[in-house]
Order: sequence, then structure tokens, then C-alpha cells
Amino acid sequence: MENDCLFCKIIKGEIPSSKVYEDDDVLAFRDINPAAPIHILLIPKKHIASLAEVKKEDGELIAKMHQVVNKIADQEGFKKSGYRLIVNCGKDSGQEVMHLHFHILAGVKMGDKIV
Ligand code: AMP
Ligand code: ZN
Repeated sequence: MENDCLFCKIIKGEIPSSKVYEDDDVLAFRDINPAAPIHILLIPKKHIASLAEVKKEDGELIAKMHQVVNKIADQEGFKKSGYRLIVNCGKDSGQEVMHLHFHILAGVKMGDKIV
């Protein structure tokens, strides 16, 4: 946990969030500024600053995050229609919050342009 990290504060409950899924390892909540009808952020409870900081010992956690994405897709009813998973990493991607997060976008037919 990092004291000045926004997402660590959300994990600790110091900042409210609209929770979608939680277990011992991960937390998912709705993005405050959604880019699609469904926009969920999935984060590890362990503070990892970005994808670039993922270590070998995080392998199980990262694999679990992908399993949880599908659990959420099932739970929220968009497993069949599909979704897009985005991870911003570093300056050029526009990463604003330095705590690893998966953007799960769904609920609309998306185009093929990223930028
Ligand atoms: P990124 O640009 O990849 O770092 O994404 C950060 C995301 O966090 C953005 O989509 C923001 O809308 C979202 N965000 C920032 N503050 C909050 C918050 N308090 N609750 C939910 N989502 C947030
Ligand atoms: Zn953090």
C-alpha cells in the first residue's frame, strides 16, 4: 500500500467507489468517467505502479486478474457480447494513476481505432 496512491486509498475505503467485484487479491469498481456504457477498472490489491513494474513473482496474480475479468463479464452480463481490455503504461499511453489497472470496456460495438 502506498499512502499517496489514489487506488490504494480506494482499496482501503478512504475514497468511495462503486464496487463490482472484490476478493483477497483484487478489486473492481466503476470508472468515474466512463468511456463506454460499461467501464470497469480492475486492480490488484498489491501496489504495482504499472505494467512495467510487474515482476516474475506477480505471475499468478496477473493470471488471476484475467480470470476475474471473465468472472466480471459473466456477472455483469457482457460475456457473450464481448469486451475490450486496455492497460495504459507510462507517459505516452496517458497513464494517470500509477497503480496497475485493467480498463474493461463493454456495452457498445467498438471501432478498431485506438488513437
Ligand atoms: P489511466 O489514464 O489509465 O491511468 O486511467 C485512470 C482511470 O481512473 C481514468 O479512466 C479515470 O476516469 C479513473 N478514475 C480516476 N479517479 C477515479 C475514482 N475516484 N473512481 C473511479 N475511477 C477513477
Ligand atoms: Zn496503489
